[in-house]
Amino acid sequence: MKDSRSDIIEVAVPLPLDTTFHYRVPPEFRDGVAPGRRVLVPFGRRTVTGYLLGFAPDEGRELRAIHGVLDESPLFTPRELELYRWAASYYLHPLGEVIKAALPAGINLQSRRGTAGNPDGELTGGRSIRTETVYRALAHAGPAPIPRGKGAEILARLRGARELTAAELRQAFGACAPQLRRLRELGLVESEAREVYRDPFREETVEHDSPLPLNAGQAAALEQIAAAADAARFAPFLLLGVTGSGKTEVYLQAIARVLARGQTALVLVPEIALTPQLVNRFRRRFRCGIAVLHSGLSDGERYDEWRRIRRGEASIVIGARSAIFAPLERLGMIVVDEEHESSYKQGEGFRYNARDLALVRGKIAGATVVLGTATPQVTTWHAAATGRLTLLSLPERVNGMPLPPVELLDARGQRGETLLPPLAAAVAANLAREAQTLLFLNRRGFATWLTCEECGHVLRCPNCTVTLTFHQRRNRHICHYCDFAIPAPSVCPGCGSGQVTLLGLGTEQVEARMRERFPEARIDRMDRDTTSGKGGHARILRKVAERKTDILIGTQMVAKGHDFPGITLVGILSVESALNIPDYRSGERTFQLVTQLIGRAGRGDDPGRVLIQTLNPEHYALTHAAAGDLEGFYGTELAFRREAGYPPFAYLAALYLTGTAPAATEAEAERLAAYLRSQRSEQAARVEILGPAPPPLAKLRGRFRWQILLKAPHRSALHRLLLRTRKEYAPPSGIRLQVDVDPLELM
Ligand code: ADP
Ligand code: ZN
Ligand code: ZN
Repeated sequence: MKDSRSDIIEVAVPLPLDTTFHYRVPPEFRDGVAPGRRVLVPFGRRTVTGYLLGFAPDEGRELRAIHGVLDESPLFTPRELELYRWAASYYLHPLGEVIKAALPAGINLQSRRGTAGNPDGELTGGRSIRTETVYRALAHAGPAPIPRGKGAEILARLRGARELTAAELRQAFGACAPQLRRLRELGLVESEAREVYRDPFREETVEHDSPLPLNAGQAAALEQIAAAADAARFAPFLLLGVTGSGKTEVYLQAIARVLARGQTALVLVPEIALTPQLVNRFRRRFRCGIAVLHSGLSDGERYDEWRRIRRGEASIVIGARSAIFAPLERLGMIVVDEEHESSYKQGEGFRYNARDLALVRGKIAGATVVLGTATPQVTTWHAAATGRLTLLSLPERVNGMPLPPVELLDARGQRGETLLPPLAAAVAANLAREAQTLLFLNRRGFATWLTCEECGHVLRCPNCTVTLTFHQRRNRHICHYCDFAIPAPSVCPGCGSGQVTLLGLGTEQVEARMRERFPEARIDRMDRDTTSGKGGHARILRKVAERKTDILIGTQMVAKGHDFPGITLVGILSVESALNIPDYRSGERTFQLVTQLIGRAGRGDDPGRVLIQTLNPEHYALTHAAAGDLEGFYGTELAFRREAGYPPFAYLAALYLTGTAPAATEAEAERLAAYLRSQRSEQAARVEILGPAPPPLAKLRGRFRWQILLKAPHRSALHRLLLRTRKEYAPPSGIRLQVDVDPLELM
């Protein structure tokens, strides 16, 4: 009898299916199968690439045989599989698709070309990997023909070096391929194609620096983090401190501790393009291999980096969202910088949240997890307050500079003015003393809402307390949670005046008006339109750094990461689009945004000044941000969340049904909601079912979308309901169901 362990395998396929599959391994592949490798399997009438999860007992069932094994070594470890399984279960996403998303796309490109007969197709083949050719002189036994001219020079050079690349030879001798070919034919030189890792930061040579002597707050924080790291047990921390309070220095020194123990570290950042300074600080501090994963890498480059990590050639990985799956072994620490950033959440397909998975991965690996931010998520703050995270605070900026004074300017009744008089005067004064100004404006294309210019009243849903959004197609103001809808009122329901208008002002308009108003000023704009293309940010930032810009007008982009050391005046033209976004997190987001912007003012020797124009000067998110009062804001916000039943006091899941036929999609959404309600009564589940309603993005890429929001005081009830739905409910052909667990945006 043969060993049944190696006979039957469990395979996950990257298709929208909720189960895994069993296959038989024919004798010729028996040596090659091992968990973590890819296998080619028959699936219906097709052959697909699947992931070998493990072995299964032989239950005597008739099983199909695999067609081949693709990899020579596993692509994932049992611990990584544990993370994938966790994520698949939690986010209700097919395991095969989770694994596919976790592995670099370069692998999957290869698998299309790979064949069963080429089991090591992973490492070779005509992929986009860059190889370069290196040449070496050979010790020649016996009499050899003597090359002449350029050939002789090349040979002499090669004999004096260990090896030279084709590029180096080309640089020294110009075109020399014929000579090299001849030298090879003569047996005087050998060549070898070698893979090179394309490292986007490789060109930069850095001077190494040393750890800084820490201030008291940093030292206390480091002590706690290091103690946890030394204990090599899962321990989560919230490192709370404004920009410039020394968080990064704490990460660096904590990671040094972890590396000294022979472990590795993962650093997640919201977007690497916005944080080149951070990467450079790691390069200066550490001599170990550092892999940088970001969205600008080609599939081939990403795959190179992934393999460097897999081979243990990088002990630190810095990356955006998807780096949470980086194949680091002996993981000792995970840092999530700017933990509140919504870019950690994947917005479509496998909708995971890398910040949340960092805690899960930390738990699996027994690693220390540090969440750093000046403005935690409300749920994070609550977790720290209730002891699930250990709070570490860095109360002030390292340079001792106080935060700038902040003034809220009441914009009610000031029709048509881009800048209110106090802000206009401040800009003029700043220009006069040749200091730099940042004007911020938050604009989101579709987020137009009705507001009263007399009293600031905003139309809200009576059931949901969220802003109504204007939908041109239906000519109605609609609640995105419950589908409450009204036609545009002709007078303000708040004060009875007739000055109700759709609000929304773009950066472009602001730029034009500023040019009119301050014709002598050098004005630049930073938003999605002006920074597209490589180096777009860098160009604008360089001009600001070189003081070639007097007034920088920008969107959210300017709030993040950048250092603007010369900016002493920050003017916030409007926060209404952040405040009135139809989402229970609008207060949180506004607080975070405004706090970040305040942190942009007054670096250097001038504390600076911040002026905020708003129709809502009494809004708690603004008053607390202006006062730098975190306790006040989070206290108020948590009270609201508790009352309205939102996270952290409830768990949410959003279901989206999409289809190309509007009526059929809507009818199906109604049918799904009815199914959910019947399941709810059957399970006696405490789950609120809201909708279906059209989300703000009611039509996306040609598909009509309907949203059903589920809200539950306990996660288990919500999860059970979703699980059952996944199992029993299948949309008709042409209509798709997407599930977003813990949605950050209800779009
Ligand atoms: P954060 O990550 O909170 O923005 P950083 O670690 O980047 O803070 O620190 C802000 C600045 O202060 C950086 O230029 C950093 O090099 C410097 N810095 C940090 N800690 C110290 C320290 N203990 N002594 C001197 N300078 C420090
Ligand atoms: Zn509503
Ligand atoms: Zn009014």
